[in-house]
Amino acid sequence: MDNYAKAAKILRDSSLTIALTGAGVSVESGIPDFRSPTGLWEKYNPAEYAHIDAFRRDPRKIWNMIFELMGMTNSAQPNPAHLALAELEDMGLLHSIITQNIDNLHQRAGSKNVIEFHGNAEYLHCIYCGAQYSPEEFVVGTEPPVCKSCNEILKPSVIFFGETIPYDALLESQKLANTADAVLVVGTSAVVYPASSIPHIVKSRGGSVIEMNLEQTVLTSSITDVYLQGSAGETLPGLVDQLKKRE
Ligand code: NAD
Repeated sequence: MDNYAKAAKILRDSSLTIALTGAGVSVESGIPDFRSPTGLWEKYNPAEYAHIDAFRRDPRKIWNMIFELMGMTNSAQPNPAHLALAELEDMGLLHSIITQNIDNLHQRAGSKNVIEFHGNAEYLHCIYCGAQYSPEEFVVGTEPPVCKSCNEILKPSVIFFGETIPYDALLESQKLANTADAVLVVGTSAVVYPASSIPHIVKSRGGSVIEMNLEQTVLTSSITDVYLQGSAGETLPGLVDQLKKRE
């Protein structure tokens, strides 16, 4: 049995499957991950630009990076990897996606059960008075947007280093990881905690880990049961094709 057939069997036999996705899923939509040699993060060191203390110190500087990131996410379209995950949900073979991505592309591809572990870049909030703004309330122009209540510079509602994961997302993900028979781990280096703990929780209860990535990760030789190497835009549709074949 090849690895696609093995992965398909795991999904067919599982009563509840979840997916953990990372930046690699959106690379084929034109949004670089942290590790691409020519990506955004070569220019903006995440430790320097994506830490909450850096935002507090100099929000205008951080907004230069945010404008560039927004330019990419606003024009990005879901790719075959996002569409395949939405199809798996429609087929009744995927319960939910826990994503570390902030780009809204899973939802735009049609996935309904999406837990945003690190927030969503389309929303804004004020770190001083707590005011929250939906995308309809605020069109971001060329200057950092300011809070309508207290005039401070707003922050996108994404989790910076040094901030805590939204409580509901954390609770719901852990509940799912403690119930799932299988987890698809796609396009993530699986090093950012606590998202990285999800496959370990599934595995520790006897569940299966199917990993899809261009490269091996810390999981591959430790807890991964089936490894599908390649771009997510190829491996995920490949798995859907396999599942559509008659056994
Ligand atoms: P990461 O950059 O640490 O790892 C990306 C992983 O994806 C790597 O293992 C890489 O080998 C793999 N990869 C790259 N291209 C791929 C492809 N086409 N197909 C399959 N795999 C591919 O990203 P991470 O693990 O998600 O964690 C880092 C943080 O990056 C997260 O907190 C996330 O919020 C943030 N981030 C998000 C976006 C986004 O929303 N699109 C973009 C950049 C960073």
